[in-house]
Amino acid sequence: MLRTAPARPSLPQQCEVCRRWGDAGVCGECVGRYAAPRPRCATCGLGTGFALPRCGACLHDPPPFERTVCFADYTFPWDHLITAFKFNGRAELAVPMAELLVSAVRACTKLENRPRPDTVLPVPMAPGRLRERGYNQAWELARRVARRLALPADATLLQRPLDTAHQSALSRRERQHNLRTAFMADPRRRAELQGRRIALVDDVMTTGATVHEAAAVLRRAGAAAVEVWVLARTPDEPATPS
Ligand SMILES: [Zn+2]
Ligand SMILES: [Zn+2]
Repeated sequence: MLRTAPARPSLPQQCEVCRRWGDAGVCGECVGRYAAPRPRCATCGLGTGFALPRCGACLHDPPPFERTVCFADYTFPWDHLITAFKFNGRAELAVPMAELLVSAVRACTKLENRPRPDTVLPVPMAPGRLRERGYNQAWELARRVARRLALPADATLLQRPLDTAHQSALSRRERQHNLRTAFMADPRRRAELQGRRIALVDDVMTTGATVHEAAAVLRRAGAAAVEVWVLARTPDEPATPS
């Protein structure tokens, strides 16, 4: 069952960060203070000294996605909000978070003048994890973002049939190995991916291994291009996985 609350833009709302009342789930002042635009690699979204189409890592080993849109770095207060969203059952936080992601997608699209994606897909969650949590946070974001951008969204075209170990407990190498067989395109619906441009949505991009594998599966299944839309990007790979 999805535990979600409808957006009510006409009613006053309390900012989820500073608790002041206003007309948005996260106020403009908090966005300005904690999510000021910073130069990034356009391909992987990593913060860089100056804006680049491709950072060194993306030049050396081009990922299977064309670009990454991210709203902010995975730092305060976004890390707290995302933790509440994922682990404390606050599914209704998808409403303000989707608005923030929409604003980031619109800002990037205006700058880059790219073709719109054909379909928005969430990074899928394995069945056991989905049962535990009751909702896939990526789908909660993806379907709202898609609706705001008047794009179709699909919860099941990309699948994650097996429950694997928690990614957060693994090193980068272990994550990659673990993910290699994690995703598959619905075998009965592969025709729907042929030549399509896909926007792949997730809440957080850490090392990028998850979206890397999911995008590779989509490309192998026939997608023409994949771009990644995430709310938050870990600024640098942590020295020790936690
Ligand atoms: Zn605020
Ligand atoms: Zn990069």
